[in-house]
Amino acid sequence: MQIKIYRGTHQIGGCVTEIRTATARIIIDMGENLPSADYSFQRQLEIDGVTKGMPDCNAVLITHYHGDHVGMFERVLPNIPLYMGSVAKQIYSVVQNALKNKLNKGNPEKVNNFKEFIVGKSLYFGNVKVTPYTVDHSAFDAYMLLIEAEGKRVLHTGDFRMHGGRGSKMPAIFEKYCKNIDVLITEGTMLSRTGEKVITEHELGLQADKLFRENKYVFALCSSTNIDTIAEFYNAAIKTKKPFIVCEKEFQKEILKIVTQNTTSPFYNFDRQKIYSYGHNLHEFMAEHGFCFLGRTNYITQKAIEAFPNSLLIYSMWSGYLDSNHPAFDEYKSTFVNSALTNGSRMVHLHTSGHASIEEIKQVCKITNARTIIPIHSERPEKLKNLGISGNIVILQDNQDFIVE
Ligand SMILES: [Zn+2]
Ligand SMILES: [Zn+2]
Repeated sequence: MQIKIYRGTHQIGGCVTEIRTATARIIIDMGENLPSADYSFQRQLEIDGVTKGMPDCNAVLITHYHGDHVGMFERVLPNIPLYMGSVAKQIYSVVQNALKNKLNKGNPEKVNNFKEFIVGKSLYFGNVKVTPYTVDHSAFDAYMLLIEAEGKRVLHTGDFRMHGGRGSKMPAIFEKYCKNIDVLITEGTMLSRTGEKVITEHELGLQADKLFRENKYVFALCSSTNIDTIAEFYNAAIKTKKPFIVCEKEFQKEILKIVTQNTTSPFYNFDRQKIYSYGHNLHEFMAEHGFCFLGRTNYITQKAIEAFPNSLLIYSMWSGYLDSNHPAFDEYKSTFVNSALTNGSRMVHLHTSGHASIEEIKQVCKITNARTIIPIHSERPEKLKNLGISGNIVILQDNQDFIVE
């Protein structure tokens, strides 16, 4: 069995991994470079038999719907099947639909043709057996993949963490299904973000609850698909009797409806009757009752903030976007936040990472008892070598062949 990382050995996102055996070739993730990342020196990624030439690939398996893992899906040649979790697929279809309607981009039709993972149910491609298991991540319905072939076991974690909604279940899942791994391909985002304090989503919810009680008008800036964080805000709003307002008419409600329809946990039970779509007609109601407004750095949210000066602005995204010294600095987001502050709002940063902390990565290496560990999705993969992990840590370069022995 051979492993090749086309992209992602020394960067966060843009991930594409290949597993090749005597009779099969599968690709894990088809990620686009993160928009804010300065990887402009790279040429567009082309892979023979996958994005160009004659199709020569059994399947493309997408771990989750973040653009840095699925963004290049449209470039996969027709006739090569793509796979994704079924709930993730529905959410991603809504996202692609919105892109199509708004910007005439996106391809919901191709997404609707994705095949679906079923947790724990193995898929077979030539002599390769792939078993998907749910992981905890800031994308809902995300997967890690256990690949078994030619007497070897490879675990590709995808993006994961252990401090979100399903975090507490993760050690047991690794313990039960992912022991004695020959090669662990693990995400290593946090290896270069050591200064970040990682709180649990539950702690985030407790802090949101407190802030909601102390502040009548609250805007929370958060990704529309970060379901765990949205659920914490929603549940805190219900508990503190604050109307929960979303900035779009249908888009966010549709995503939350998919989640509610496909889960049994009361934590994800978003009641449509209790979610208001923002409009000027709500101003009086909002002024009287207060609110938690789930917004984005967009025009509608900006107008709403202007209508309610002296609000609390909860910035629930990664802090790097607002850091002018960071390569991922996002001028648009920064200008947005600054204009809200000028307008009289007060800002707090309340966010937790979608990625495994260093302690969590160490824990996975230990539980899986991995003989060889290949870090990906990291700007500083070599830092994994200084953590006292017992496996053999291999730092690959993009496009380098690695033979599993
Ligand atoms: Zn990622
Ligand atoms: Zn991700």
